[in-house]
Amino acid sequence: MDKLVSLAKRRGFVFQSSEIYGGLGSVWDYGPLGAELKRNLKERWWRAMVHEREDIEGLDAAILMHPKVWEASGHVAGFTDPLVDCRQCKNRFRADDPRLKGPPGDPETKCPVCGNKGTLTAPRMFNLMFKTFMGPVEEDAAVIYLRPETAQGIYVNYLNVLQSSRQKVPFGIAQIGKAFRNEITPGNFTFRTREFEQMEMQFFVKPGADQQWFEFWKAERMKWYQGLGIRAEKLRFHQHGPDELAHYAKDAYDIQYEFPFGWQEFEGIHNRTDFDLTRHQEYSGKKLEYVDASANERYIPYIIETSAGADRAALVLLVDAYREEQVEGETRVVLKLHPSLAPLKAAVFPLVNKDGMPELARRIYDDLRGRFNVFYDDGGSIGRRYRRQDEAGTPFGVTVDGQSTQDQTVTVRDRDTLLQERVAAGRVDEYLSARLTA
Ligand SMILES: [Zn+2]
Repeated sequence: MDKLVSLAKRRGFVFQSSEIYGGLGSVWDYGPLGAELKRNLKERWWRAMVHEREDIEGLDAAILMHPKVWEASGHVAGFTDPLVDCRQCKNRFRADDPRLKGPPGDPETKCPVCGNKGTLTAPRMFNLMFKTFMGPVEEDAAVIYLRPETAQGIYVNYLNVLQSSRQKVPFGIAQIGKAFRNEITPGNFTFRTREFEQMEMQFFVKPGADQQWFEFWKAERMKWYQGLGIRAEKLRFHQHGPDELAHYAKDAYDIQYEFPFGWQEFEGIHNRTDFDLTRHQEYSGKKLEYVDASANERYIPYIIETSAGADRAALVLLVDAYREEQVEGETRVVLKLHPSLAPLKAAVFPLVNKDGMPELARRIYDDLRGRFNVFYDDGGSIGRRYRRQDEAGTPFGVTVDGQSTQDQTVTVRDRDTLLQERVAAGRVDEYLSARLTA
C-alpha cells in the first residue's frame, strides 16, 4: 500500500489536502491524473446507470438541504457514535477503539495517547454530521448540515422527477455528488475520508417486486465492476447479518474488494423498503404515494438502492491495476488500467529531438489531442519515457523514429504486451480508436 500511496503522489493521482500547511486530516485532492481517472469512472457509471437505461433518470441535488430532511431520515437522532475524550491531551476516541485497555471512565484505564490514568470520560454520543449556519446569524434556528449521504436528495425529489419525466414504477433516479461525515477514525489513504463522493441510484418498485429487483441490481453491479477490468477473484459479496443490517433495511449486500488492508466494502446494494418515503410523507405532510391509474392502486414504493463510493472505487481501480513485473532483468511498475479509465490514452515521443522527428511527432500529437487525452514527452531516454507512462497507466506509446521521416510510419507500443507495431502516421487516430473503444 505504501508503494501505491507514494506512486499516487509522485505521479499526480492524489495529494493530501492543504499539504503546504501540514495537511488536513483525511481529506485528499486529486491531481491531474487522478482527476482524469475519477472523471472517467464517473462517466462510465453515468453511462451505464442513466444513458443506457430507459427507466433511470439523472439528478444533481444540492449539498445543503432543509434541516427537517435529517430529522425524517433519522440522522439527527441516530447518526451517532459513542466517543470517549481524554481530559488531559484532548484526544477523542471511538468507545470501541482497540487501543483502549479497560473501560473508559474507570480510574485505572490509561489514555492510549498521553498514557495518563483516569483521564478518559465515559462514552458520549457524538453526531457525525458536519454542522454549519445558514444566513447571517449563528443561532440554533439557523443550523443546517452538510449532507452525510446523497440519497435524501433523491427521495425528496421523487415526485418532481416522476412527474416531469413521465416515468412509471418501476423506475430509478441516479446521482453523483459529494457527502460529508465527521469520521473519528478515518484512514487507509482515500478509503475512509471525511469528504467523499457517492454514485447512488435509488430504484422505486412496487412492494412485492422488491426481492426480484434486489437480485437484479445485485448481479448487475457486480458485473459492472468486472467489466471495468477488476480481477474477479478480488471481488466478493458480503451479506449483512442481523447485527449489521440498518433498522429500515430488509436485506443488504456489500460488494467488497480485497485491499492490502483486508476485504472492505466499496458499494452497497440495499432493500430499504418503504421506510424513506413513508418518513418523508410523515415529516413533510405531503403525499408521496404512487398512483397506478391503470391498476387502480396506490402505494408507497419500496426502494432498492445501489450506493457506491466514487473515491473508494477509484482506489480499487488503482490498487487492482498496480503491478510490478520483471522485464529484461529490471522491475517495471505498471498500472494496468482499463483503457477507458486510463487518464492518458496515449503518449507521443520523438525518438530524438532532431532530423524532423519532433515536427512529425508534434503533428501527430496535435491531431490526436482533439479526440483523446494524450501526452507529449521529449525528455530523457525512450526507455525512461516508456516507464513514466507505464506508471501513469497510459495504454499506448507512439514513437516517431528515424524510419518515420522516410516512410511516414510510427511504432505503437502496447503497455501490457510490450509489443510494438508499425502503423502509418496518418492512421494512428484510427488505430487507437479501434483499441480504446473495444
Ligand atoms: Zn490523553
